Amino acid sequence: MPIHPEEMEPLYRRLFDSRRLVVVSNREPYEHRWSEEVGEIEVRRPAGGLTSALDPLMQALGGTWVAWGSGEADANVVDRDNRVRVPPEDPRYTLHRIWLTHHDIHRYYLGFANQFLWPLCHLRPDLTRVRNRYWERYRRVNQRFAEAVVDEVRGKAAAVWVQDYHLALAPHMIRARRPDITLAHFWHIPWPPFDVFRLSPQAEHLLRGLLANDLMGFHLPTFADNFLRCARRLAGAEVDWDAKTATLDGHVCHVGAFPISIDVKQYRDAATAPGGEEQMARLRQRYAPNGEMVGIGVDRMDYSKGLPEKFKALEFLWERYPEFRERFTFIQVAVPSRSDIEAYDDLDQKVDRQVWQINDRFGTPTWRPIHLIKQSLPSDRLAILYRMADACIVSSLADGMNLVAKEFVASQVDRKGVLVLSLFAGAAEEMEDAVLINPYDPEGFGLQIRAALSLPLEQRRASMDRLSGSLRTIYDWMGDVFTRWGEISSARPVLPPVEAADTLTAELLEDGAEAGYLD
Ligand code: UDP
Repeated sequence: MPIHPEEMEPLYRRLFDSRRLVVVSNREPYEHRWSEEVGEIEVRRPAGGLTSALDPLMQALGGTWVAWGSGEADANVVDRDNRVRVPPEDPRYTLHRIWLTHHDIHRYYLGFANQFLWPLCHLRPDLTRVRNRYWERYRRVNQRFAEAVVDEVRGKAAAVWVQDYHLALAPHMIRARRPDITLAHFWHIPWPPFDVFRLSPQAEHLLRGLLANDLMGFHLPTFADNFLRCARRLAGAEVDWDAKTATLDGHVCHVGAFPISIDVKQYRDAATAPGGEEQMARLRQRYAPNGEMVGIGVDRMDYSKGLPEKFKALEFLWERYPEFRERFTFIQVAVPSRSDIEAYDDLDQKVDRQVWQINDRFGTPTWRPIHLIKQSLPSDRLAILYRMADACIVSSLADGMNLVAKEFVASQVDRKGVLVLSLFAGAAEEMEDAVLINPYDPEGFGLQIRAALSLPLEQRRASMDRLSGSLRTIYDWMGDVFTRWGEISSARPVLPPVEAADTLTAELLEDGAEAGYLD
């Protein structure tokens, strides 16, 4: 049975009683900025699905959210303990902001998180950049997050939920100070196989950081198994493969698979909002004025998304099957991302060149094969684009889940589009009714696009019906995580909320030089 958003609060209370919920993430749920009006501050809600799904729960529970204060006016609205009550119009919970300096952002965020962990976990060790100063800063910033959590839960029973790969060390640091706390972590990206993860010079530290959790969640069972193998071989944890646990220094970490999803209703509602039909007609007029079929892609400009591979497959299609020229147009939304990093800048240029070449080769005075939109669109506009499209092509080379695939299905209220989905997106495990492709095989991929575009309407309808019938929501995901976490917590001995001396943390933080000899 699907879980509804309003069931989250009673579920949490039933499982965790009066424990205070503390969410810890790199990104914050509210950002304060200077508005155009001189001296005025406005609030922005970053668009991410997880933040918008967790925010109502936090409002209902009155918990605490610890995150990086990334807004330019963030510091102007906090109290002396760096706290601000949110949402601003009706304050219900506490946002505790962590301040990052220019060096922190460069080394912890763009450095260790996004130039080491991200490429490693997406199977691109060739793109990792190993620098001592990145690691040192990652430890220090994790320590600041951990200290903020410890401050927030002083003297209180708490359940702390850490998000993602920016904060792998924080759980151990929190546990060292507060052994009584129940801790869960969700790793939103893949966990690579042992042979890849072992390339990390800090593999053992990272694993020790994460093994301090009571529950470690991944999208797929494969990622959970990879993690357990790494925990055994690189951190010396004792692994119980049946129970899916890793025990280190007497602490048991349970590992599980919880495939995330989206707010399905939000996309359905946006796709069917008044004015949608007119917007779709305008889009068709603009991109497919001659009644062409329209394919779409929606990705961050990231090397894990397989954009060059997608364009190669399209090139093969138009080359080998000229009947698709002027009959099939492709719109690619490619959101600029992490452009301070060389690999992203290289990709951006490569994609530009490729699109230019394809358009030059096949385009005519009245038809452009690929429209490249390099900007971020709000979710309500995406929903209309998804609804209008005859096909959505997801070509990830490695992807924890891929929410776009699910958003497309949720928005396809006319049930006429086809989802072409990479085998290497986590979503493929649940979406067998999509047309599955291997992005490393441009010809096979191109043939599958052709097959997808040639499917009779009844078949497209039937597979879209099955896909949307089995679509779970982000609330199902959260309910599954809380239920498993609650079971684990209730089986743990109840300890009083006492703060321990800081010995283990000191050991993790022993000083290392941040300066290295490499750029
Ligand atoms: N997205 C967006 N505007 C855009 C393009 C993408 O809001 O112009 C959102 C998209 O709706 C999805 C998310 O960005 O929710 C991308 O999530 P996904 O899991 O597909 O990939 P990620 O970027 O997290 O690797």
